[in-house]
Amino acid sequence: MISGMVVSGYGGFYQVRRDDCGAVVDCKPRGRLKQSYSKIYPGDRVEISLLPAGDGMIEAIGPRHTRLSRPQLVNFDQLIIVLAWKLPEYDLLLLDRVLVLALEARVRPVICFNKLDLLEEGEAPLFQDIRAVYQAAGFSVLGVSAKDPASIEALKEQLGGGISVLAGPSGAGKSTLLNQLLGEGSAETGVVSDRLRRGRHTTRYARILPLGADAAFGFIADTPGFFALELPQSVTDRDLPGYYPDFQLDEPCRFDGCLHLSEPDCRVKQAVAKGRVDPERYRRYQRLQEEIKTREVVYW
Ligand code: GDP
Ligand code: ZN
Repeated sequence: MISGMVVSGYGGFYQVRRDDCGAVVDCKPRGRLKQSYSKIYPGDRVEISLLPAGDGMIEAIGPRHTRLSRPQLVNFDQLIIVLAWKLPEYDLLLLDRVLVLALEARVRPVICFNKLDLLEEGEAPLFQDIRAVYQAAGFSVLGVSAKDPASIEALKEQLGGGISVLAGPSGAGKSTLLNQLLGEGSAETGVVSDRLRRGRHTTRYARILPLGADAAFGFIADTPGFFALELPQSVTDRDLPGYYPDFQLDEPCRFDGCLHLSEPDCRVKQAVAKGRVDPERYRRYQRLQEEIKTREVVYW
């Protein structure tokens, strides 16, 4: 039996990348797995057996540690949140929302400001401030430009293995960065991107591609079309504070389960007043609490 990872699914086959040599084998699931045929996703760890014709049979599927339904993808490790400095201008409310999404899905978020070539001299302190707020909260923040190869290398090194996914608003530069990360111009990726283009319209599945020779930097998922960027339905008003590492203070609020909204003796609000917690991020937190409230359906 050979171990591998499902990297895509099309043509009635799943493409499985062998761990031992990196070759990709077209596979069908063994009969008893077929009942759950639709339940095999890119990112799945599988055991395969090779058939004489050169294709393979999926014999077993391993456990999953993360799962997304839009796009369908499992077992990814990092969510690279791509925001453009301009054109279109970054939206920090969207960023905070996607950070909740990432933490809820138990993946490491990497905040990536793209198009920094458009950053004008006077704007540098603003970028530094934003970066400092999120770094203080414990997040990785990178500034890159698709026009600056050194910054793309730095991004690659940040990823350091596992499966990464790019998410962010349309126009932020995700496809451009994906191409740069994969290394445009290399004959091999030329073939891959051709297959990608054809596949794009025929599948809702993500496709996983190796980063660097022998996947030295891990893998990156090319996700077809739209990425759901809203707050997961499962996140309630009580859960939300838990997704703010910067709100976890040494001294607890007076009330257990404090929502940090209008409760008395709220340490978070005190920290906001003292500037220890960024007031803008706190305001966006209030907005997300509003979103949850207006979305919440109450069943009696
Ligand atoms: P996507 O919708 O997120 O996949 O965004 P695209 O990759 O299609 O990029 C949208 C536009 O932004 C394209 O015209 C790109 O050429 C441009 N773009 C991407 N990255 C950069 C960058 O770092 N700097 C500048 N100036 N333009 C960029
Ligand atoms: Zn509180």
